[in-house]
Amino acid sequence: MKNRINLITFYTIIAFSIFLCGCGKTQFTKETHKRELEFTRQFEMLTCEKPYGKLCVETDDEEEARTVETFIDNCFKVAGIEDVNNKCTLYFLTSFPANELQMAGENMFIFSLDDVINNNGNASFGRLLTYVAGCDMWISCGLAGEDTDVNEEELKEYYSNEDNRAQLSLAGLRFIDVFQDEEEIEKVKQTAIAVVKYAKKKGYKNINSISDNKAEIINGWLKSIGVDYSLEECSADKVKYFVGPEDEKLDYILIDNLALYIKGSPYNGWEVNNINQLDRYFSTISDDLKGIRDFVTDNNILDNEAVNKPVRCEWSGAHALGTSFAKPDSNTISLQAWVALPHEYTHIYFTYLNRTNHEFLNEGIAEYLGSYLNGTAMREYYVSYYTDEANKDDPAYDLINENMDVTENFDLMTESRLFIKSSDFLDEYAVPLLSEDGWSYQESGVFVGYLIENYSVDEFMKIFTSEGRDMEENEAVLQRYVDEWRESLSE
Ligand SMILES: [Zn+2]
Repeated sequence: MKNRINLITFYTIIAFSIFLCGCGKTQFTKETHKRELEFTRQFEMLTCEKPYGKLCVETDDEEEARTVETFIDNCFKVAGIEDVNNKCTLYFLTSFPANELQMAGENMFIFSLDDVINNNGNASFGRLLTYVAGCDMWISCGLAGEDTDVNEEELKEYYSNEDNRAQLSLAGLRFIDVFQDEEEIEKVKQTAIAVVKYAKKKGYKNINSISDNKAEIINGWLKSIGVDYSLEECSADKVKYFVGPEDEKLDYILIDNLALYIKGSPYNGWEVNNINQLDRYFSTISDDLKGIRDFVTDNNILDNEAVNKPVRCEWSGAHALGTSFAKPDSNTISLQAWVALPHEYTHIYFTYLNRTNHEFLNEGIAEYLGSYLNGTAMREYYVSYYTDEANKDDPAYDLINENMDVTENFDLMTESRLFIKSSDFLDEYAVPLLSEDGWSYQESGVFVGYLIENYSVDEFMKIFTSEGRDMEENEAVLQRYVDEWRESLSE
C-alpha cells in the first residue's frame, strides 16, 4: 500500500512537470542591440529562442513581444510548416534601416512591429512565409488573404479575355509594382486568394502540396468558375522575390546564391521590354547559374562553401550606359544587360584562379561557360535575330542561315566559330577584349571550348592556374594548343 502511494505521488510529479514544461510561457530576455552594419541605431529589445531561430522584438512590453510570438506561430500553423531548414533571426522593429542594407544570405529579416500590433499583419505574414519557408509569393499572398472576399464573377470575366491569361502563371514578379500596373496586381492578388481557397477546399493542406500541384489546382479553379481554358505548364518560382517591410516595394530578387537588386525599371530597349519577357528570363536564368556552379563543383575547381557564397548583383541597365562587369574581390556584379549575367557570374568563380598574364583565358572561360553552355537568354536572343526577316540585309544573316540550323540546334560556339573561320566577319563582328591581348571574346570562348572539349577541363585548369609549372613552361604548352587550334579552324 505504501509503495502504491509513492508511485502515485511519483507519477503526479512527472505529469505536473510535463504540464509545466509544455504549457510554460516563453521566457524573454532583455537585450540592447548594438550598432552594426545593418542597423546604424541602437535599441532595446526582448528576445527569445524559437525552433525557427531567434526572435527579436523592439519593445519593453512583454505582452507585445508575446503577441508577435503567437502571430508567427499561427502563420506557420496556417501554412502547415513544421520544420525550418535554415535557422534565422527575425527582427520586429519600429523603424527600418535602408532597404539595401538587408543583405540576402545572412538569414536575418526585418519586419514591421506596427503591422502586427496595430494592423492585420498580412504584409508581415506574406514576407515571413517567403523568407523563412521559401514559399512562392502567390501562396503566401493567398494564405494571408483567406479572410478576404473575392469576386469570382469579375475574375471569370477577366480570364475570359485571353490577353489577361499570362497573369495566371502567378509568377512572383506579377505581384510587384515595378513590373506592371496597379489594376493588374490587384487582379493577380485576387486570383491568388481564390486559388489558395480552392486548394484548401480540395484538401491541399500545406504550402508544399499546393506548390507541387500548382497547374492542376489553377486549372481546377478555372473550371470551377466557368472559364474554358487550362494552363499547359506552370512551374514553381525558381526565383524568389522579396519586398521590403515598409511599403511592399521590391527589395531584391534571390536566385540561389545571387541577390539581385533592381533600381528603377528592369526593362531596357533591346532585350527585355515587358513583363512576359522578364517572366521568361527569370524562369531560365536559375538553371543557367546552376549549370555554372555544377561545372565548378563537378570538376573540383572550388569547394562547396566557395561555390555557394552569396553574390550581390546590381541591375542598372535601364538608366546607365556602359558595360556589365564583375568585381570578384567583393563578390559583386554590375549588370547592364540581362544576357550578360551568366558570363559575369562565371568571372566571380574563375578570375582569381588565373595565374597567367592572359586575359583572353579568363574571358574565354566566361564566354564558354556563361554564354555558350549556360546562356539561354543569349542564345534565344540570337535565334530571334537570325530568324527575323527584318535583319536579312545583315551579311551575317546569310552566313549563319546558310551554314547552320538556326532554330533546332543553334549553338553560339558554332556561330562564333563560323565568324572566326570567315576572316572578313571576324574583323567586322567579333568584339575585341578590353585588354591588349589581340583576342576577341569570340576567339577566346571558342579556343577555351576547343581545349575543354578536345582535351579536358583539367587540362584547361592546369594552364589557367599554371599549376606545377613555371610561367615559361606554361607559356610553351599554351602556345602549342593555340597553334593547334588555329590549324583546326581551316578544316
Ligand atoms: Zn568578361
